[in-house]
Amino acid sequence: MKISFHGACREVTGSCILIETGSTKFLVDCGMFQGKSYYKNIEDFSFNPEEIDFVLLTHAHLDHCGRLPKLFMEGFRGRIYSTAPTRDLTEIILLDALNVSRIEKKPFVHPLCQEGDIRHLMNFFTPIDYGKKRIINNNIEIRLKDAGHILGSSIFEVWIKENEITKKLVFSGDLGNMPSPIVEDPKFIDSADLLFIESTYGNRLHESKEMGDAILIQEVKNTIAKNGILVIPVFALERTQEMLYRLNSFFEEEKIRGVNVFLDSPLAIKATNIYKQYVDFYDQEAKDLIFKGDDIFDFKGFEMIKGETEKVLNAPTPKIILAGSGMFEGGKIGTYLKKYLGNPLATLLIVSFQVDGSLGKKIINGERKIKVDGKDIEINAKISTIFSFSSHSDHGMLFDWVTKANPKKIFVVHGEADASKSLAESINGIVPEYNAIYNF
Ligand SMILES: [Zn+2]
Repeated sequence: MKISFHGACREVTGSCILIETGSTKFLVDCGMFQGKSYYKNIEDFSFNPEEIDFVLLTHAHLDHCGRLPKLFMEGFRGRIYSTAPTRDLTEIILLDALNVSRIEKKPFVHPLCQEGDIRHLMNFFTPIDYGKKRIINNNIEIRLKDAGHILGSSIFEVWIKENEITKKLVFSGDLGNMPSPIVEDPKFIDSADLLFIESTYGNRLHESKEMGDAILIQEVKNTIAKNGILVIPVFALERTQEMLYRLNSFFEEEKIRGVNVFLDSPLAIKATNIYKQYVDFYDQEAKDLIFKGDDIFDFKGFEMIKGETEKVLNAPTPKIILAGSGMFEGGKIGTYLKKYLGNPLATLLIVSFQVDGSLGKKIINGERKIKVDGKDIEINAKISTIFSFSSHSDHGMLFDWVTKANPKKIFVVHGEADASKSLAESINGIVPEYNAIYNF
C-alpha cells in the first residue's frame, strides 16, 4: 500500500490523501488551498485524476471538497462517498466558491469549470448513513462515524485487504469541539493500524464554552448600553448556525432582549436551510427544542438579509450584524468593516479561527491601521475575541481521542506546522511534508 499527501501538510487547507493498493486508488478529501497557498490549486495534481476509483469526502468545508471540480474536469468519474447533508452542502459551497473566484477575478481550481459541471459532479455522490459498514469492492470496506464538526461531517474507518492481510485505516476528518452544539459530539474509534489525525488546535486548549457564552452575552449587553453596533464575521457553515442557535437560546431565556439581529450572507442562509432539512443529524438537545416547537435558528428581532445590505446599514442602533466570511475574505463582511471599524461605538467580535497572514489575524495581533478592499482604515472599534466557539477539538481532546483509537502508526495533518508538531510529539506521530510518499 502506498500513501501520499497532497495538501493540508503543515497547513490547514488543501486536505487530500491518496491511497494506492495493488488494484485500487482512492482519495480522502480533495480540498482547496486557501490564503497564502491558494496558488497550489492551479498546479497539476501529482497523480492522474482518471485513475482515481473513488473519493471519500469527510465534510463539506471548502478546504476538504474545493478541488473536486478540478478532479472532475480532469477526468475523474468514480463515486464520491459522503453523508447526504455533506453532498447537499458541498453543492452550495462549490457553486459559491466558483462565484467568489469570478467576483474577485482570481483563477478557479480549474479554468474551464462552469456551474453546470459542478451540478453534473453532484450525480457522482453516493450518500451513506453513519454506522453501517459498506463494501466498496472486493478488498475495501468503509464505515462513517459522526465527527461532530459540522452537519454531516464524518470520520472514515477503512478496511483494506491486501495479500490476505486486512489493515484498518482511520481518517479523522475535522473533529468537533466537545460538547458540539446542534450536532452530536465526535464519536470515538476503538482501533486503527494507521490513523490520520487533524491538528488545527494541536497546540492549544480552548476556553470553556461557558466563558464564550458569557463574553457573547456581555458584548451584546455592552452594545445595547452604548447604542452601538456589534459586527460578527461568520463562516457560512456551522459557525453561523452555532451563533444563531446560541442567540436563539439567549433570547428565549431572556438573557438578552431589545436588539435586532441581521444575518447578511446568502451562502449562510442557504446552508441554514439545509441544516433545517436534516433534523435526524442533530443531537438530543437540539431535537428536544424542536419537539417543543422552537425554531432553533429564529427568534424575535432576527432577520435574514437577501441582498439588501443597505437595509442593515440604515437600520437603527443598537444592532447585531452577522456577515460572511469568517476569515474576512470575500462575502459581505468587507462592507461592514469599512463602515464600522472606524466607529468607537462599534465592536468587532471575532469568533472564528484566523489563518496566519489573514486580515482577521492582523487585527487580533493588534494592528490598528489596515486595508479592506484597498481602502485604508483606522480601527477605533473595540476588538473582542472568543476562541471557545471553535468547531475543532483542542489538544486535550485530540490526545484523548487518539489514545482511545490505540493506533499503531499516526500521521498528523491539517494544522499549521507548530500545531501539527506539538500534537505529533505528544502522540508519537509523523508530520508528513507536501507530496510525501510512504509505503506499507
Ligand atoms: Zn472543517
